[in-house]
Amino acid sequence: MRQAERKQAHETNKLSKRLHREVGQAITDYNMIEDGDKVMVCLSGGKDSYGLLDILLNLQQRAPIKFELVAVNLDQKQPGFPAHILPEYLQSRGVPFHIENQDTYSIVKRIIPEGDTMCSLCSRLRRGILYRVAGELGCTKIALGHHRDDFLGTIFLNMFFGGKLKGMPPKLVSDDGKHTVIRPLAYVAETDLERWAEHRQFPIIPCSLCGSQENLQRVQIKQMLREWDRKFPGRIDNMHRAFSHVVPSHLMDRNLFPFQTIRPTGIADPTGDKAFDEDDADDGCGTPAATAALPDEGAPIQFIDRRP
Ligand code: SF4
Repeated sequence: MRQAERKQAHETNKLSKRLHREVGQAITDYNMIEDGDKVMVCLSGGKDSYGLLDILLNLQQRAPIKFELVAVNLDQKQPGFPAHILPEYLQSRGVPFHIENQDTYSIVKRIIPEGDTMCSLCSRLRRGILYRVAGELGCTKIALGHHRDDFLGTIFLNMFFGGKLKGMPPKLVSDDGKHTVIRPLAYVAETDLERWAEHRQFPIIPCSLCGSQENLQRVQIKQMLREWDRKFPGRIDNMHRAFSHVVPSHLMDRNLFPFQTIRPTGIADPTGDKAFDEDDADDGCGTPAATAALPDEGAPIQFIDRRP
């Protein structure tokens, strides 16, 4: 094997290990899959859902628990949708699957005026159908292919345009209280999924068949995050890490922290606030401290080397 090929094989091996480790970790951290579960993996034909199914299939072989997987694709009857691709791929992998045929495309086209974005109605219809199918197939979990960058993009969208500090839950119970939705790619970087899709040669189905534009604001935020990642390696991982290290006493939500009733107790709290310590944003002399973004002592930032 030539040196370049050896290097490529080494990088792919590293990527594979990282992907499986991150998905396994997210599943464990949020108790996403339990013994006896039947997991419906929603497959759109894009790189993310292919990656999700592929990794779950591998983990299924190694997991200490038993769970079933069933791939489900909703054929929304978009013009030019190559309906043979997913069944052929799934048959070749020996994966149990179900294709649900529902012409939501025509419904959305009929209701939404030409030129307006169709995504909101389209995804609402899709969600309802997938919940129904999950019930009919007896699935106990519904797995979606949202990844780390979707989580970050959503939190910025909600901050910029919704005035809310709200991201995307790794696990949630559906509004009707009947289904558990999981996002096992919560820790996985989109660039890793791109590289995995290329390596595994997934038969990708283009996502532009409906003719709808991707949400422009989401596109801009994605570009901003990619730019940051390029200029400041580690920043994205660190922001993502912040999602699971929330300090309600240092935010401003009175529903999360009882600001109105807190009083001195006279008892020192070694883990409590360091209001005048220099790692606060302003150390009292008006100069923002250079160390404002450093983690608490004992919680080192872990940079993940994602370079190919
Ligand atoms: S991009 Fe097209 S298929 Fe996707 S949610 Fe929007 S309208 Fe639906």
